Amino acid sequence: MTKRIFKAILAVALSMLLLCTALIIGVLYEYFGNQFSSQLASSAAYIAQGVENEGMSYFENLHKGSSRITWVDKDGTVIYDSIAEVSALENHKDREEIKQAFENSTGKSYRYSNTLAEKTLNYAVKLKDGSVLRVSSSQYSIFMLILGMLQPILIILIIVVTLSGAIAYKVSKQVVKPINEIDLEHPEYASAYEELTPFLRRITYQNRQIKSQMDELRRQQQEFSTITENMSEGFLIIDSKTNILSHNSSALKLLDVNGEVGNQSVLTLNRSEEFRKAIDLALKGEHNQQKMRINHSFYHIFANPVYQGDNLVGAVLVIMDITEKEERENLRREFTANVSHELKTPLTSISGFAEIIKNGIAKQEDIPGFAVNIYNEAQRLITLVEDIIKLSQLDENSVPFEKEPVDLLQIVYTVSSYLRPAAEKRNISLDIEGQPVQVLGVSKILEEMVYNLCDNAIKYNKDKGKVCISLSEERGAVKLTVSDTGIGIPYSLRERVFERFYRVDKSHSKEIGGTGLGLSIVKHGAAFHGASIYLKSKPDKGTVITINFPPLL
Ligand code: ADP
Repeated sequence: MTKRIFKAILAVALSMLLLCTALIIGVLYEYFGNQFSSQLASSAAYIAQGVENEGMSYFENLHKGSSRITWVDKDGTVIYDSIAEVSALENHKDREEIKQAFENSTGKSYRYSNTLAEKTLNYAVKLKDGSVLRVSSSQYSIFMLILGMLQPILIILIIVVTLSGAIAYKVSKQVVKPINEIDLEHPEYASAYEELTPFLRRITYQNRQIKSQMDELRRQQQEFSTITENMSEGFLIIDSKTNILSHNSSALKLLDVNGEVGNQSVLTLNRSEEFRKAIDLALKGEHNQQKMRINHSFYHIFANPVYQGDNLVGAVLVIMDITEKEERENLRREFTANVSHELKTPLTSISGFAEIIKNGIAKQEDIPGFAVNIYNEAQRLITLVEDIIKLSQLDENSVPFEKEPVDLLQIVYTVSSYLRPAAEKRNISLDIEGQPVQVLGVSKILEEMVYNLCDNAIKYNKDKGKVCISLSEERGAVKLTVSDTGIGIPYSLRERVFERFYRVDKSHSKEIGGTGLGLSIVKHGAAFHGASIYLKSKPDKGTVITINFPPLL
């Protein structure tokens, strides 16, 4: 704007200057031209008077100066000329000024030289005898005048241009300064120009509108990010070119992306085929769902296209961690397969013995033995089914009893009374240490847990070994420890033994007995009571399993 004002002022000043110069030169030229013309007229009249009095002899003493004097006879023949030879001059009767003088007693004309550099003014006066006296004199033409004054004109021009430039610069700055000083954030306080008031009022109004719209947008944006940031699911919005427009931190966590994520392609976050497929299909307008795996975790990706009118403008991706569900599903599948197998073995055996008896192949004396086998296998089946029921109750948190303060020492005594015969059979000592302690729990489950721990401590013990059950309490927290001097558990399997149906030595499981669910029931029972389990074992030396109950409130 400053530049435009500057240029405009400068242009006006220069054009005014040129116009003034031209007008002044024109007026001056006209003025001096008239002066020159009247001087010529008076000197023509003066010379005419002299010639009339003295005739040709008058010319002899006359000082001619720069004027040319010509005397023309009545018929136009040149009688005298101050410059040229009279004989060489043609008849002058048709010359404009001479013609006028013959008719009106005076005549006047001017002629330009070939180069337009000079203007010759002729003034003719008719004498009494009918002849005509002409005085001619030259003056510079206006072009020559300008040419002659070119240097001072140029100097004046330069001075005026410089001055105009400086003034234009200052004026334009001054004009623009108040406009530049307007605070567009608060245009209502500006007092620049009255003409700008409606404009500034409009800006104030628009500023207010923009501010309230921005506040609303910010509020919505905050609401949106609060919601998405609190989602455990990953959330990503992309445009039609796969560039990320918005994301939450869960998305980065689930996709295992470290560091900042900008407006980059979402495909750089994960290179798996399923991820790409989900995005490709969504950007082709297809709602789809893909399952993918990152490291040891499983995810579901829900990809939905986003439309604006009829145009597909991007997609929304929601990523859900389904690892737990997947693991549960796997466990369920494994469990079903194991249960079927565990049920089938005793049933096949029962069916085999029953078939022999039914077909009458069995000898009479073998039948009682077969009946014992059938009974034992049936008992195994019952124990197995009971264990499965207990586990599923603990699994589904549908234990049909309320928790209450239970004396754990009492339970230990009860359990040891059940197991003492089996221990004595193998000369295994069963010691109990500790005083009565109370835990908040369900006595049936607690009994089951203690039973399984002690049963294992005897089963996997060596003959003449030792089993010690100890109870202690520290600040209300009860600790139950079952230790044995048995075969121990390899370090690498110390977690696996808590899995359903997992046994370290599968080949001897039948003669040792057990369902493979004992430690699973202990683990789930402990979780039900909010207790933690620690297992310490050394192969061939023995095992110590500790359960820490939370304090009784
Ligand atoms: P099981 O019915 O086979 O005893 P459990 O779930 O109680 O099933 O135990 C799982 C496996 O852990 C057992 O088969 C055994 O190999 C191992 N185990 C459990 N307790 C002990 C222990 N005290 N000493 C050595 N091994 C043990």
